[in-house]
Amino acid sequence: MSSIVEKIYFDYAATTPIDPEVKKAMELYLEDKFGNPSSTHSLGQEARVAVDKARETVADFLGCNFIEVYFTSGATEANNLAIKGVINKFQVSSFSEAVPPLAGRYGAGKFQVHIITNEIEHKSVLKPVESLEKSGLVEAIYLPVDKNGAVDINNLKNKIKENTALISAMYVNNETGVIQPIGEIGKIIKEWKTENRSKLGIQYPLFHIDAVQAAGYLPLNIRDLGCDLLSLSAHKIGGPKGIGVLFVKDGTPIAPLIEGGGQEFGLRSGTENVVGIVGLGKAVEIIRHPSFNFQFPIFNKITNPKSQIQNITSLRDYFEENLLKNIKNTSVNGGGAPRAPHISNILFKGAEAETLLIALDEAGIMASSGSACQAKAIEPSYVLLATGLSKKETMSSVRFSFGKFTTQEEIDRVLKILPEMIEKLRK
Ligand code: PMP
Repeated sequence: MSSIVEKIYFDYAATTPIDPEVKKAMELYLEDKFGNPSSTHSLGQEARVAVDKARETVADFLGCNFIEVYFTSGATEANNLAIKGVINKFQVSSFSEAVPPLAGRYGAGKFQVHIITNEIEHKSVLKPVESLEKSGLVEAIYLPVDKNGAVDINNLKNKIKENTALISAMYVNNETGVIQPIGEIGKIIKEWKTENRSKLGIQYPLFHIDAVQAAGYLPLNIRDLGCDLLSLSAHKIGGPKGIGVLFVKDGTPIAPLIEGGGQEFGLRSGTENVVGIVGLGKAVEIIRHPSFNFQFPIFNKITNPKSQIQNITSLRDYFEENLLKNIKNTSVNGGGAPRAPHISNILFKGAEAETLLIALDEAGIMASSGSACQAKAIEPSYVLLATGLSKKETMSSVRFSFGKFTTQEEIDRVLKILPEMIEKLRK
């Protein structure tokens, strides 16, 4: 445990440390209160009350109803459920009969519907869309992004078709932190609906937001956002891994992906992950009402009494200003666009990111690159490539991401060692 005190964790966008208050809340349900919420005896009912309380907290946070909050195994599942669940609903026969023109047009008893998403979504959105395309159920278009990495919504209204079932967009990109124009997308969908008639029904196209990286930083009232579906993940906000939420607006046509005992109002069967749900509820409670000056035992530090968001924003700005000042040929990917405060994606021209990450790790500093290790080959980040960066530039980019427990001292330590590291790497 002592070695971790020396470590600097700058990878909050990958996952956050568990908040000690969250851990405490979860412990009770790991040990004493271990009941199954479906059991009718008192132990079971205690677990049911805890699950209901967490659902109420999330509903309050999102400004939605209790019955619109569905717990999933994380945002990957929530995104899969939002996309495949909405599309699979078209295969349910009663629904299909309600829209015969499509059956005639596309034949074989299958409907081909249309999805609009974009090039920089998380893989948990892109992959399900791709597999639906492969199965022939869906025709998809991927909106491009501008040079800052914001989705280009020019002409979006003209791209919506009579059979567009779903438009899926992320709120904040996980690699660059760039805030996406989801408010505008919501408005365009609303306008389209008043001016056109969907062949699928008045609710379509549905609007899904992956809000994983926005939670805790940006307003998340779903009525203001005007969405039908929204995904969240606990482990990006101080909660545990393996638990997430899909908000589904009441009355939205959606089919379950996991069937069984009918938990989660029939949309997601399986005995509830009570410990995870309690942790998620607590994490949401904390980001709504952050307790300041909190002592974080593992990292042995005290959070800044200023507003946490303000604090993280000023630390990020200080980091970037000094970095650009002290290291030549360095720039901020997405720096020209509004960004969430916790992500800083830096291009160190001529320095190899993977080698830099190893050197940083040896110095006790944990950051990440957007590139993913796939089939043992390091792939360039598709997100950065979409913004127009060259393959070489994407492979020279490193993501530093900050959080509640980030301090000025940590930033200073990294700022101090980086110039020499980069100089060596550029030789
Ligand atoms: N969407 C975004 C934008 C993310 O950053 C992540 C996590 N990297 C996910 C979805 C998937 O979340 P989870 O880890 O809960 O499956």
